[in-house]
Amino acid sequence: MGDCIFCKIIAGDIPSTKVYEDELTYAFRDINPQAKVHILVAPKEHMKDMAECAKRTDDLAGHMMKVCVKIAEAEGLENGYRLITNKGDHGCQSVGHLHVHILGGEKLSDKMG
Ligand code: AMP
Repeated sequence: MGDCIFCKIIAGDIPSTKVYEDELTYAFRDINPQAKVHILVAPKEHMKDMAECAKRTDDLAGHMMKVCVKIAEAEGLENGYRLITNKGDHGCQSVGHLHVHILGGEKLSDKMG
């Protein structure tokens, strides 16, 4: 686990507002929401980003996308939402444990960068 804050959240050592959990993923509300609904979906297994996840032989990346859609529907985001996963310095990734942001609940900015 090391010093990974999301590993500690998944282990229950740091509190979080859990939204969803299954055998592979854990989802919780972002502590600094950038939209009315802002949820993070992370794999329980530590990996740094989607590039690492995509190199696996299993379908964890696809599973994470399906979990995002399931949560968005459960949150009532029928008017749409945005899924983002940041990677590395240029992507402004600040936590080095893969996560997908679900943003919605209101009209989002049309600027992506
Ligand atoms: P990123 O910049 O893509 O790595 O996103 C990291 C996200 O984690 C940011 O949106 C932070 O607000 C969020 N975050 C950091 N610490 C916590 C925490 N303890 N609980 C919930 N969200 C957090």
